[in-house]
Amino acid sequence: MSEQVLVVNSGSSSIKYQLIDMASEQALATGIVERIGLEVGRAKHEGLDGETVLERHVADHEEGMAIVLSLFAEHGPQIDESRLVAVGHRIVQGGSVFAGPALVDETVQQQIADLSPLAPLHNPAHVAGLTAARHAFPNTPHVAVFDTSFHQTMPPAAYTYAIDRDLADRYAIRRYGAHGTSHKFVSRHTAELLGKDPAEVNVIVLHLGNGASASAVQGGRCIDTSMGLTPLAGLVMGSRSGDIDPAVLFHLSREAGMTTDDLDNLLNRRSGMLGLSGHTDMRDVHDAVAAGDERARTALEVYYHRLRTYVGAYYAHLGHVDAIAFTAGIGENDDIVRENSMAGLEHLGIVLDLERNAGRKKTDTLISTDDSPVKVFVVPTNEELEIARESVALVTASQD
Ligand code: AMP
Repeated sequence: MSEQVLVVNSGSSSIKYQLIDMASEQALATGIVERIGLEVGRAKHEGLDGETVLERHVADHEEGMAIVLSLFAEHGPQIDESRLVAVGHRIVQGGSVFAGPALVDETVQQQIADLSPLAPLHNPAHVAGLTAARHAFPNTPHVAVFDTSFHQTMPPAAYTYAIDRDLADRYAIRRYGAHGTSHKFVSRHTAELLGKDPAEVNVIVLHLGNGASASAVQGGRCIDTSMGLTPLAGLVMGSRSGDIDPAVLFHLSREAGMTTDDLDNLLNRRSGMLGLSGHTDMRDVHDAVAAGDERARTALEVYYHRLRTYVGAYYAHLGHVDAIAFTAGIGENDDIVRENSMAGLEHLGIVLDLERNAGRKKTDTLISTDDSPVKVFVVPTNEELEIARESVALVTASQD
């Protein structure tokens, strides 16, 4: 009988889950319980008998997880605990503590809670999800897989901010990065597509979704990434600014009287493509450009410019680049962004084949020309599968 892993991603008001069959590496069921704690909660489960939607008050993560169990029991597939090798949890912030996945016990759960100041919106929610899932599956190993772990191989030169060292140490201020599970999955898969071992290739991964990040992966190890202490740094995103001169904040504080919360809200929720064009979703930005909107056109130019800046920087650090891999919502679906962001990089050996690039990509696709020295791929990411694989590997290793 084939092994299964339940992958859980708990947010502050939601629990997303997938039951993955490890032989086929396919999802047997996916679902979400959302609006936890609000007046009317909502659950959606896609299992054996299609889609089930449920609306009712869901007080907390404990009740949310109980609903997940009942959805599996009523609509299948049945979760057979003897086949369930692990429950794998996505955890946003592992700080400098977790360079890889960890079997969850009281100590690990407390360490995740202790890292909350670095991810105040995420880690407390993960702890609530962990507690509920450990109650629901008391006899199954739970594994925490961290978004930051893959970036722990960065050298100090890449992760250290040029500020007062004592202050930085006291408050754990450094670059941690994010989306690491995706960067790991995509960079390894890109090596496979090249027919090589990850240790033999250098890859630049461009994870372009509503949140966006780039990473430089040298021989399978991350040596630099664009997100920082938090996922605000780096590329232009849906509603996040990415890199900005920090003095803009002092200026707005002094001149516009904005508070810390105002500035947080501005850079995290009202900037990026939204701030520049009025649209968060890249499809809306393209529609606006097609309708002659100059702001939207400029917004895209800013987006491409920043992306090329990172490609150039990572090219310099890697020395030799075997491949660039586009992934996530925009990376996989948006041929306009792929074409324009790579335009003019032929002198770096990056030559797109515009016919291959055209359209949305649901599967791995080579989009560079046959003689492009740097291969460019679209590689659909699968963070849930990566979490499941890492969970199985850790549980297996711990039983040996
Ligand atoms: P993600 O955060 O990975 O779900 O990505 C969300 C982003 O992907 C949004 O900006 C969407 O505009 C973009 N996206 C999704 N589907 C498409 C599509 N068919 N064409 C262009 N962009 C898309």
